[in-house]
Amino acid sequence: MQTILSNEWQEKLLKRFLKYISFHSTSKPGIDTIPSTERQWNIAKYLYEELKNIGVEDVSIDKNGYVMGNIPSNKDKSIPTVGFIAHYDTSPDFSGENVKPKIWENYDGSDLLLNSETNFILKVSEFPELKNHIGETLITTDGTTLLGSDDKSGVAEIVTAAEYLISHPEIKHGKIAIGFTPDEEVGKGADLFDVKKFNADWAYTMDGGEVGELEFENFNAGVATISIIGKSVHPGSAKGKMINAALLAVEFSNQMPHKETPSTTEGYEGFYHLTHISGSVEKAKLQYIIRDHDFKKYENRKAFMIETAEKLNKKYGEGVFHIEITDQYFNMKKQIENKMFIIDIAEKAMEKAKIKANIKAIRGGTDGARLSYMGLPCPNIFAGGLNFHGPYEFVPLESMIKATEVILNIAESIE
Ligand SMILES: [Zn+2]
Repeated sequence: MQTILSNEWQEKLLKRFLKYISFHSTSKPGIDTIPSTERQWNIAKYLYEELKNIGVEDVSIDKNGYVMGNIPSNKDKSIPTVGFIAHYDTSPDFSGENVKPKIWENYDGSDLLLNSETNFILKVSEFPELKNHIGETLITTDGTTLLGSDDKSGVAEIVTAAEYLISHPEIKHGKIAIGFTPDEEVGKGADLFDVKKFNADWAYTMDGGEVGELEFENFNAGVATISIIGKSVHPGSAKGKMINAALLAVEFSNQMPHKETPSTTEGYEGFYHLTHISGSVEKAKLQYIIRDHDFKKYENRKAFMIETAEKLNKKYGEGVFHIEITDQYFNMKKQIENKMFIIDIAEKAMEKAKIKANIKAIRGGTDGARLSYMGLPCPNIFAGGLNFHGPYEFVPLESMIKATEVILNIAESIE
C-alpha cells in the first residue's frame, strides 16, 4: 500500500515544523558538556512530552538531552526494528533565535523578497534549485536568521510519521525506534547516543537536503598537527645556525599536493586542507584536515604527511618537525556494504512515494557514520530543506510530506 498524507496530516506536519523552529536551540562549539547550550533543553523537553502525548511508548529523556521512544510492532511474527533519528539543535554558523518564517503558497518561480526593510532577496539566479519547487509551498526565513529546517524538518517528519502509524493500526509494521539528539551541528550528536538502549537493527538519519537524497558514503577524516621548533639566532650572525620555523612551515605546506585541496576537488576526490598556520622564528604550527572516501588513499595521505616531516627532519635535524595525526571519523560505507538491503529498502520506499533515489557520497561526515561504527548502521535520507546554516535556508512543504511518506513506506515494508 502506498500512503499519501491527507490535507489534515499535511497541516499537522506544517504546524509541528513551525512549532519546532520557534525554539531557539543553537548549539555551541568548544563546550565539553552535552547539550552544549542550556536552551536546547526547551525543545528536548517539548519533544519528550509530545512523544508521550501522541502515544509513543518507553519515551525517555536522558541527562544529556537525548530523547528516545518506540512504537511497538503490530505484526504477529518477529521482524527487525528500524530506527529514525534527527537532531534538534541548529547550526552555530548563523542566528537561530526568534525565527520568523514566511510561507509562500503556490510558489511562482520568481525571486522572493524575504525582508523589505533590509531588501533581503532569495534570488533564483543564485539559488536555481528554487525552480524545482514551482507550485509548491515554500517556507523561508525573513532574512535575519536561519530557518532550522536542518534538522527540525527531520524531527517533524519522524514525529508526524509516528503519530500517523499510531492512529492507523491497519498499517502493519515492526517495532519502530525514534531518537532525537542535541549537538549534531558541533559534531557531537552521536557522542553519547545510547545505541544499546535505542535497540534497533539499523536506522536512518532524516537529515539530508533535496528530495531523493540517500547517502551511505562519507569521508574518512583525520586532523594533523605539525609543530616546528626553530632556533633563534641574531640575524647578523645566523649563517649556518638559525632555523627559521616560520619558513619551514611554508616549506612543509609547499610539499603538499597543490591540486588536492578543498577548492580543487569534488566527488570522490580527497584532499589535504590547511586550516591553520601560525609561526615565528622560534616555533611554528600547521594544522590540516585530511579527507578521502577511499580508506587506503586516506591512509596513504597520512603516511605521506609523516614521510614529509621525516624527510625535512633529515634535512634540518631530528626533532625540528613533530607531527601528530588523529582520526576523526570513518566512511560509513564499510559498515553498510555487507548490508546493502538497508539501502534497497530506502530506495524502494522512495520509489513507492514516486521519488527517484539520488545516491551520492557525502563530502563530509554525518552522525550516522559515527553511529554506524558504534554498531548501528545508519544511512542518511533527505529531510527536504535547502541552503542550510544561513538566512537563505528554505524548505518546501511538499518535500517534508514526501520524507514523511518515505518513513511510513519504510516502516511498512520491513518484514
Ligand atoms: Zn543536520
